Amino acid sequence: MTTVGTPARAAALHFYNSLTRRKEPFQPMDGRLVRMYTCGPTVYNFAHIGNFRAYMFEDVLRRTLRRAGYEVLQVMNLTDVDDKTIRGSRAAQVSLKTFTQPFVDAFFADLRTLNIEPAEIYPAATDHVPEMIALIQRLFANGLAYKSEDGSVYFKVAALPAYGKLAHLDLSGLRAGARVAQDEYEKENVGDFALWKAWDENDGDVVWDSPWGRGRPGWHIECSAMGMKYLGETFDLHTGGVDNLFPHHENEIAQSEGATGKPFVNLWMHCAHLRVNGEKMSKSLGNFFTLRDLIAKGYAGRDLRYVLINGHYRQALNFTFDAVEAARASLSRIDEFVERLTETAAGIAPARALPAWAAEIQRHFDAALADDLNLPEALAALFALVREGNIALQHNHLTAAEAAAVGGLVVDFDRVLGLIHFGRGGANALPDEVRCLLDARLAARTAKNWAESDRVRDKLARLGWEVRDGKDGQKVKKL
Ligand SMILES: [Zn+2]
Repeated sequence: MTTVGTPARAAALHFYNSLTRRKEPFQPMDGRLVRMYTCGPTVYNFAHIGNFRAYMFEDVLRRTLRRAGYEVLQVMNLTDVDDKTIRGSRAAQVSLKTFTQPFVDAFFADLRTLNIEPAEIYPAATDHVPEMIALIQRLFANGLAYKSEDGSVYFKVAALPAYGKLAHLDLSGLRAGARVAQDEYEKENVGDFALWKAWDENDGDVVWDSPWGRGRPGWHIECSAMGMKYLGETFDLHTGGVDNLFPHHENEIAQSEGATGKPFVNLWMHCAHLRVNGEKMSKSLGNFFTLRDLIAKGYAGRDLRYVLINGHYRQALNFTFDAVEAARASLSRIDEFVERLTETAAGIAPARALPAWAAEIQRHFDAALADDLNLPEALAALFALVREGNIALQHNHLTAAEAAAVGGLVVDFDRVLGLIHFGRGGANALPDEVRCLLDARLAARTAKNWAESDRVRDKLARLGWEVRDGKDGQKVKKL
């Protein structure tokens, strides 16, 4: 017998650090508080499932930290000014803010669909231009920035010997100072990157004043400025997709450490790519999906969440429709198990009565998460619990108190997995079809597609469900 959910597991967590290329024991600077920065979406379109693979990894990571007893302060930026957002707003002939806001709203709706816990702070780049300008000024003062003839400002990579340490690059060739072709702007060196882009006519009315003239910040500087503003000049943890490692994260390090002279981030974690049907996702291959595309096909957020967490974050994940079907079947098995446990527990609250076999499975689950977030092993532990639990239930080997304790363990696992009570309300559980339709209606409403929203409402009505929109979202009632 042992207690469920004792959070004395923090000391045991180990994560792979992209900076040192080793698994290291996790130790935040400030005891129990983890300061974490996550590169967020560029809000020029709906996010696709490749994006959500990274956001899902970060969700499971923060849930693991919280379950281990840490408090998490997570910052995720919203890139609402860059080439793509400006191009989109110009094409739509609306202001940048008017263009990006629906995609910001859609992003948050998508996070809810996938049961991704919100970060504590979502700073928008356009609200932090003064901080970026101040940071660039520090880089000038330290001899790491220069202004080109057209008024843009670049980071002088050759002046920072540590440049390349995250990507483990050998930049001796670059430092030798190969001159850049004329189409590479006015850079002194091919590796130099823009801190500030001088205004040109393609920018329209998207422009800020700076000591170097009118223009807008480069993309990399926003994460350095906003990360340090909210988390301090040195913080614990920075995450992102592996495609952000170079040059984006390398440049973040250069800008931050170049300005402060202090280490920027202690632990860098990167999640591998998502492939679809074994191939790189691309519009031309017809395997490019936003979350909304998949919801419209009738899948629930929960099914997709399961697929997206069912892999090790450092390995490529292959998304297939077979995997989504398999996820549904797996989730049904878990639901049935939870129902049987609930029946046997007969209303007893979870307490100290975990059978020895279940305590052993809990140890496996903890060990899997502590070993660099090994989700396949953690899910295997959950299914071992389902299998052993079903056998015990079948043979009437579980007392009501034990069933309650095992149920409590499922809930404990779900603090990380986020699968089990998600979209379910126990006895009031909605049928899958209704849940999917509600998700589809939410997606339609977020995209301001009222005709589609009404069509889905009518479909729900034909199935005998009335939907109303309140302040907290959609409310559904059996007619
Ligand atoms: Zn970033």
